[in-house]
Amino acid sequence: MSKTPEAVAAAERWTAHNYHPLPVVIADAEGAWVTDVDGKRYLDCLAGYSALNFGHRHPSLIAAAHAQLDRVTLTSRAFIHDQFAEFCHKLTDLTGKDLILPMNTGAEAVETAIKVARKWGYLVKGVRPGQAKIIAMEGNFHGRTTTIVSFSTDPDARDDFGPYTPGFQLVPYGDLAALEAAIDADTVGVLVEPIQGEAGVLAPPAGFLRGVRELCTRNNVLMLADEIQSGLGRTGDTFACDHESVVPDMYIMGKALGGGIVPVSAVAADRDVLGVLKPGEHGSTFGGNPLACAVGIAVIDLLRTGEFQERSRELGERLHTGLAKLIGDGVTEVRGRGLWAGVDIDPSLMTGRQASEKLMERGVLAKDTHGSTIRLAPPLTITADEVDWALEQFHAVVA
Ligand SMILES: *Cc1c(COP(=O)(O)O)cnc(C)c1O
Repeated sequence: MSKTPEAVAAAERWTAHNYHPLPVVIADAEGAWVTDVDGKRYLDCLAGYSALNFGHRHPSLIAAAHAQLDRVTLTSRAFIHDQFAEFCHKLTDLTGKDLILPMNTGAEAVETAIKVARKWGYLVKGVRPGQAKIIAMEGNFHGRTTTIVSFSTDPDARDDFGPYTPGFQLVPYGDLAALEAAIDADTVGVLVEPIQGEAGVLAPPAGFLRGVRELCTRNNVLMLADEIQSGLGRTGDTFACDHESVVPDMYIMGKALGGGIVPVSAVAADRDVLGVLKPGEHGSTFGGNPLACAVGIAVIDLLRTGEFQERSRELGERLHTGLAKLIGDGVTEVRGRGLWAGVDIDPSLMTGRQASEKLMERGVLAKDTHGSTIRLAPPLTITADEVDWALEQFHAVVA
């Protein structure tokens, strides 16, 4: 008898319903594959929203975690531990920035970026006290804190959670003229996802990121790139900003930085920006803890080989070529870059939810977003044959 229905019911019974998961109960996982409580195997094409870029339980990441578990796991930042400097140093090398501030979740890293930009605005730019403004994009997703949802345009994320934090202005994603018009003397930062993941893997028009960079430079405004989902190999480069050779003032990282093992996030910026913080002004008990740093070091070591970026580029081409063939055959549009795709299902056929349930029955795990979009973001360790197999299942579901 299947153990799944009871396990699904128990999960429903004991938790807040702030998620609507697919009815699959995972018991173990390796690489790109997970196995449920009934022993059925699935190809994981969500990869923890890109937290699992290196697959489940990558051997070198697991080895780093095990070794650290046997030594020391937490010190707090009241003391320094022996993994801390190496993690931060290696992350400065990867980002090309002077300094790192480690946190845990993505939302905390975004909050860090907001606080640092504001403080920089008052101390360095000379913005009027209490007037710092940050410009964000419509359709954004930057996390779930009260401040972050204050500038969300998703009613589910925002409604009923006010009063809202002031100091944000929205412009349409991809609209440089609107951005230019919104920038004023109080503007300290422009917060942008190089590709909007939750919005349905939406890439801005070519040249947009370059334009944002130029406007920020010209107006003495910080460009804050939220690379939490788009970064660390997902799009075929280390950062999605790399595709336009754009270097933001701050990289905001999370998800894959913890290798799918522990929550690890960070911001990277130069000394003139991150240097504005003094002791006591910001922090986190678990931020930059020894286990996080040990795993983070192993993650950066994987990224430094370039192997995963290359896999994402090559296999991403295979994925997008395959998906493009489905347009007109149950699929209306495909977007994305590298091993990352937003696939719009013809809404007259089925909803995104129905499509993800049908994919699940066929052994492919993916999740719908915004009604009729399926997001595909398999681990970058997926093989060409597995990509082809996932495409076959996709075709069978929508055709
Ligand atoms: C997931 C995500 C976040 C939030 O990260 P959490 O770890 O869930 O807090 C922020 N920005 C982007 C672009 C994300 O994809």
